[in-house]
Amino acid sequence: MPSVFVLTSDLVSNPRLQQFLLQHQVRFQMLCYTACHILLTARTGLAHVRANHMPAYARVSEEEYRVVCAELMIRNEYPSLNELDWGVAISGLDMFTKTLACGVEDCGKLFASGGAIRKHYAGAHGVKGAQIPTRYNITAAQRMDNNHHRMLFHVAPPPDQSIPLLNKDWITKLNEEIEDVMKAIELDATDARYINALLRKTKWLEHARGYEPMELRSLVGLPTADEFPQLKQAVEWIIETAMNTSGIAPTALLQRLNTKNMAL
Ligand SMILES: [Zn+2]
Ligand SMILES: [Zn+2]
Repeated sequence: MPSVFVLTSDLVSNPRLQQFLLQHQVRFQMLCYTACHILLTARTGLAHVRANHMPAYARVSEEEYRVVCAELMIRNEYPSLNELDWGVAISGLDMFTKTLACGVEDCGKLFASGGAIRKHYAGAHGVKGAQIPTRYNITAAQRMDNNHHRMLFHVAPPPDQSIPLLNKDWITKLNEEIEDVMKAIELDATDARYINALLRKTKWLEHARGYEPMELRSLVGLPTADEFPQLKQAVEWIIETAMNTSGIAPTALLQRLNTKNMAL
Protein backbone atom coordinates (compact mmCIF):
# COMPACT_ATOMS: atom_id res chain seq x y z
CA MET A 1 0.00 0.00 0.00
CA PRO A 2 1.67 3.28 -1.07
CA SER A 3 2.25 5.57 1.88
CA VAL A 4 4.06 8.67 3.05
CA PHE A 5 5.15 9.34 6.57
CA VAL A 6 3.43 12.51 7.76
CA LEU A 7 5.76 14.89 9.50
CA THR A 8 4.30 18.30 10.20
CA SER A 9 4.70 20.83 12.96
CA ASP A 10 2.35 19.02 15.36
CA LEU A 11 4.99 16.37 16.05
CA VAL A 12 7.31 17.89 18.58
CA SER A 13 10.54 16.73 20.09
CA ASN A 14 10.16 17.31 23.83
CA PRO A 15 13.38 17.08 25.87
CA ARG A 16 11.56 15.47 28.80
CA LEU A 17 10.12 12.75 26.60
CA GLN A 18 13.45 11.98 24.91
CA GLN A 19 14.64 9.76 27.75
CA PHE A 20 11.62 7.55 27.03
CA LEU A 21 12.47 7.62 23.28
CA LEU A 22 9.09 9.21 22.57
CA GLN A 23 7.94 12.28 20.68
CA HIS A 24 4.96 14.50 21.41
CA GLN A 25 1.94 14.50 19.06
CA VAL A 26 0.63 17.87 20.14
CA ARG A 27 -2.69 18.03 18.26
CA PHE A 28 -4.02 14.77 19.66
CA GLN A 29 -2.12 14.94 22.96
CA MET A 30 -0.51 11.60 22.29
CA LEU A 31 2.95 10.06 22.19
CA CYS A 32 4.74 8.86 19.08
CA TYR A 33 7.39 6.22 18.64
CA THR A 34 8.64 7.50 15.30
CA ALA A 35 10.44 4.35 14.16
CA CYS A 36 7.22 2.35 14.38
CA HIS A 37 5.01 5.07 12.86
CA ILE A 38 2.44 4.63 15.64
CA LEU A 39 0.76 6.86 18.19
CA LEU A 40 0.51 5.84 21.83
CA THR A 41 -1.38 6.97 24.90
CA ALA A 42 0.01 7.67 28.36
CA ARG A 43 -1.12 4.16 29.25
CA THR A 44 0.60 2.41 26.34
CA GLY A 45 3.61 4.63 25.56
CA LEU A 46 6.26 3.53 28.03
CA ALA A 47 5.03 -0.07 27.94
CA HIS A 48 5.54 -0.21 24.17
CA VAL A 49 9.02 1.26 24.30
CA ARG A 50 10.06 -0.99 27.15
CA ALA A 51 8.72 -4.14 25.56
CA ASN A 52 10.11 -3.49 22.09
CA HIS A 53 12.89 -0.95 22.02
CA MET A 54 14.71 -0.79 25.34
CA PRO A 55 17.19 -3.30 26.68
CA ALA A 56 16.26 -4.73 30.06
CA TYR A 57 19.09 -2.92 31.80
CA ALA A 58 17.88 0.55 30.76
CA ARG A 59 16.70 2.42 33.83
CA VAL A 60 13.88 4.88 33.31
CA SER A 61 11.72 6.41 36.00
CA GLU A 62 8.06 5.45 35.74
CA GLU A 63 7.27 8.22 38.20
CA GLU A 64 8.94 10.80 35.95
CA TYR A 65 7.06 9.37 32.97
CA ARG A 66 3.74 9.83 34.76
CA VAL A 67 4.63 13.39 35.75
CA VAL A 68 5.61 14.36 32.20
CA CYS A 69 2.47 12.75 30.73
CA ALA A 70 0.29 14.57 33.26
CA GLU A 71 1.95 17.90 32.55
CA LEU A 72 1.62 17.50 28.79
CA MET A 73 -1.94 16.21 29.32
CA ILE A 74 -1.24 13.10 27.27
CA ARG A 75 -4.49 11.19 26.86
CA ASN A 76 -5.07 7.78 28.40
CA GLU A 77 -7.53 6.53 25.80
CA TYR A 78 -7.25 6.35 22.03
CA PRO A 79 -9.46 8.83 20.19
CA SER A 80 -12.62 7.36 18.69
CA LEU A 81 -12.89 6.82 14.95
CA ASN A 82 -15.49 9.62 14.92
CA GLU A 83 -12.98 12.03 16.32
CA LEU A 84 -10.38 10.98 13.75
CA ASP A 85 -12.41 10.55 10.58
CA TRP A 86 -12.07 13.28 7.95
CA GLY A 87 -9.54 15.32 9.88
CA VAL A 88 -6.24 16.62 8.57
CA ALA A 89 -3.56 13.92 8.34
CA ILE A 90 -1.86 13.36 11.68
CA SER A 91 1.91 13.62 11.96
CA GLY A 92 3.76 10.62 13.34
CA LEU A 93 1.70 8.19 11.29
CA ASP A 94 1.87 6.92 7.75
CA MET A 95 -0.71 8.27 5.36
CA PHE A 96 -1.86 5.59 2.93
CA THR A 97 -2.52 7.47 -0.26
CA LYS A 98 -4.51 4.80 -2.10
CA THR A 99 -6.95 3.27 0.33
CA LEU A 100 -10.08 1.65 -1.14
CA ALA A 101 -13.45 2.85 0.16
CA CYS A 102 -16.60 0.74 0.17
CA GLY A 103 -19.12 2.36 -2.16
CA VAL A 104 -22.21 1.07 -0.39
CA GLU A 105 -24.19 4.00 0.99
CA ASP A 106 -23.61 4.78 4.69
CA CYS A 107 -20.80 2.23 4.86
CA GLY A 108 -17.65 3.87 3.51
CA LYS A 109 -15.35 1.40 5.28
CA LEU A 110 -11.73 1.55 4.16
CA PHE A 111 -9.49 -1.27 3.03
CA ALA A 112 -5.85 -1.66 2.24
CA SER A 113 -6.17 -4.21 -0.54
CA GLY A 114 -8.49 -5.37 -3.29
CA GLY A 115 -8.78 -8.76 -1.63
CA ALA A 116 -9.92 -7.24 1.65
CA ILE A 117 -12.58 -5.01 0.09
CA ARG A 118 -13.95 -7.87 -2.05
CA LYS A 119 -14.24 -9.99 1.07
CA HIS A 120 -16.05 -7.10 2.74
CA TYR A 121 -18.55 -6.75 -0.14
CA ALA A 122 -19.32 -10.44 0.09
CA GLY A 123 -19.42 -10.68 3.88
CA ALA A 124 -20.99 -7.38 5.00
CA HIS A 125 -23.21 -6.60 2.03
CA GLY A 126 -23.92 -10.03 0.57
CA VAL A 127 -22.62 -9.07 -2.87
CA LYS A 128 -21.40 -12.16 -4.70
CA GLY A 129 -19.14 -13.09 -7.60
CA ALA A 130 -19.38 -10.89 -10.68
CA GLN A 131 -21.55 -8.38 -8.78
CA ILE A 132 -18.59 -7.30 -6.66
CA PRO A 133 -17.29 -3.99 -8.03
CA THR A 134 -13.80 -3.99 -9.45
CA ARG A 135 -13.35 -0.23 -9.27
CA TYR A 136 -13.35 1.57 -5.96
CA ASN A 137 -13.19 5.08 -4.57
CA ILE A 138 -9.64 5.85 -3.67
CA THR A 139 -8.96 7.99 -0.64
CA ALA A 140 -6.18 8.88 1.81
CA ALA A 141 -6.30 7.18 5.19
CA GLN A 142 -4.33 6.59 8.36
CA ARG A 143 -4.40 4.26 11.33
CA MET A 144 -3.12 4.55 14.88
CA ASP A 145 -1.10 1.34 14.88
CA ASN A 146 -0.91 -2.07 13.32
CA ASN A 147 -2.29 -3.87 16.32
CA HIS A 148 -5.42 -3.08 18.35
CA HIS A 149 -6.03 0.25 16.61
CA ARG A 150 -5.41 -0.62 12.99
CA MET A 151 -8.84 0.53 11.80
CA LEU A 152 -8.32 2.94 8.91
CA PHE A 153 -9.88 6.40 9.01
CA HIS A 154 -10.22 9.00 6.24
CA VAL A 155 -7.86 11.94 6.28
CA ALA A 156 -7.21 15.05 4.23
CA PRO A 157 -3.57 15.60 3.26
CA PRO A 158 -1.95 18.34 5.38
CA PRO A 159 -2.78 21.78 3.91
CA ASP A 160 0.65 23.22 4.53
CA GLN A 161 2.66 21.72 1.72
CA SER A 162 5.62 23.92 2.56
CA ILE A 163 6.40 21.48 5.35
CA PRO A 164 7.93 18.39 3.80
CA LEU A 165 5.63 15.42 4.12
CA LEU A 166 8.30 12.88 3.67
CA ASN A 167 11.44 13.45 5.61
CA LYS A 168 13.00 10.04 5.63
CA ASP A 169 16.48 11.40 6.37
CA TRP A 170 15.38 12.98 9.62
CA ILE A 171 13.63 9.84 10.77
CA THR A 172 16.45 7.54 9.72
CA LYS A 173 18.94 9.70 11.58
CA LEU A 174 16.78 9.78 14.69
CA ASN A 175 16.36 6.02 14.66
CA GLU A 176 20.07 5.47 14.23
CA GLU A 177 20.79 7.79 17.14
CA ILE A 178 18.32 5.96 19.36
CA GLU A 179 19.82 2.59 18.46
CA ASP A 180 23.32 3.86 18.99
CA VAL A 181 22.57 5.19 22.45
CA MET A 182 20.74 2.04 23.48
CA LYS A 183 23.59 -0.23 22.42
CA ALA A 184 25.46 -1.91 25.21
CA ILE A 185 28.81 -0.46 26.18
CA GLU A 186 31.57 -2.92 25.43
CA LEU A 187 34.95 -1.75 26.56
CA ASP A 188 36.76 -4.54 24.78
CA ALA A 189 34.92 -4.26 21.49
CA THR A 190 37.32 -4.24 18.60
CA ASP A 191 34.75 -3.89 15.84
CA ALA A 192 34.00 -0.16 15.52
CA ARG A 193 30.36 -0.87 14.71
CA TYR A 194 29.72 -2.22 18.19
CA ILE A 195 31.10 0.73 20.04
CA ASN A 196 28.62 2.99 21.79
CA ALA A 197 28.18 6.43 20.18
CA LEU A 198 29.04 8.22 23.40
CA LEU A 199 32.34 6.38 23.75
CA ARG A 200 33.17 7.01 20.13
CA LYS A 201 32.44 10.72 20.40
CA THR A 202 34.29 11.25 23.67
CA LYS A 203 37.13 8.89 22.66
CA TRP A 204 36.99 7.52 26.22
CA LEU A 205 37.40 4.06 24.83
CA GLU A 206 41.01 4.77 23.89
CA HIS A 207 41.72 5.67 27.52
CA ALA A 208 39.57 2.99 29.09
CA ARG A 209 40.77 0.01 27.10
CA GLY A 210 42.76 -2.46 29.17
CA TYR A 211 41.41 -1.27 32.51
CA GLU A 212 38.95 -3.09 34.76
CA PRO A 213 35.44 -1.65 34.31
CA MET A 214 34.86 -1.92 38.09
CA GLU A 215 37.96 0.07 38.86
CA LEU A 216 37.03 2.76 36.33
CA ARG A 217 33.53 3.00 37.72
CA SER A 218 34.89 3.64 41.19
CA LEU A 219 36.86 6.59 39.85
CA VAL A 220 34.04 8.53 38.20
CA GLY A 221 31.50 8.91 41.02
CA LEU A 222 30.51 12.25 42.51
CA PRO A 223 33.13 13.42 45.02
CA THR A 224 32.23 12.55 48.59
CA ALA A 225 31.34 15.34 51.04
CA ASP A 226 34.75 15.23 52.77
CA GLU A 227 36.91 14.73 49.69
CA PHE A 228 38.00 18.32 49.18
CA PRO A 229 36.49 21.42 50.78
CA GLN A 230 33.36 22.39 48.81
CA LEU A 231 34.25 20.15 45.83
CA LYS A 232 31.03 18.15 46.01
CA GLN A 233 28.86 21.28 46.22
CA ALA A 234 30.78 22.89 43.36
CA VAL A 235 30.33 19.87 41.07
CA GLU A 236 26.64 19.65 41.93
CA TRP A 237 26.19 23.35 41.27
CA ILE A 238 27.84 23.06 37.85
CA ILE A 239 25.66 20.10 36.86
CA GLU A 240 22.49 21.73 38.12
CA THR A 241 23.19 25.02 36.40
CA ALA A 242 23.97 23.27 33.13
CA MET A 243 20.75 21.26 33.32
CA ASN A 244 18.65 24.31 34.19
CA THR A 245 20.04 26.55 31.48
CA SER A 246 20.19 24.07 28.59
CA GLY A 247 16.42 24.37 28.19
CA ILE A 248 16.46 28.17 27.92
CA ALA A 249 19.74 28.65 26.04
CA PRO A 250 19.23 30.38 22.68
CA THR A 251 19.36 28.06 19.68
CA ALA A 252 22.41 29.84 18.27
CA LEU A 253 24.34 29.07 21.43
CA LEU A 254 23.31 25.41 21.47
CA GLN A 255 24.33 25.09 17.82
CA ARG A 256 27.69 26.55 18.64
CA LEU A 257 28.16 24.15 21.54
CA ASN A 258 27.29 21.34 19.18
CA THR A 259 29.84 22.19 16.53
CA LYS A 260 33.51 21.36 16.28
CA ASN A 261 34.24 24.75 14.81
CA MET A 262 34.41 26.99 17.86
CA ALA A 263 35.34 29.97 15.67
CA LEU A 264 31.78 30.10 14.32
ZN1 LIG B 1 7.63 -0.13 18.35
ZN1 LIG C 1 -19.26 -1.58 3.09
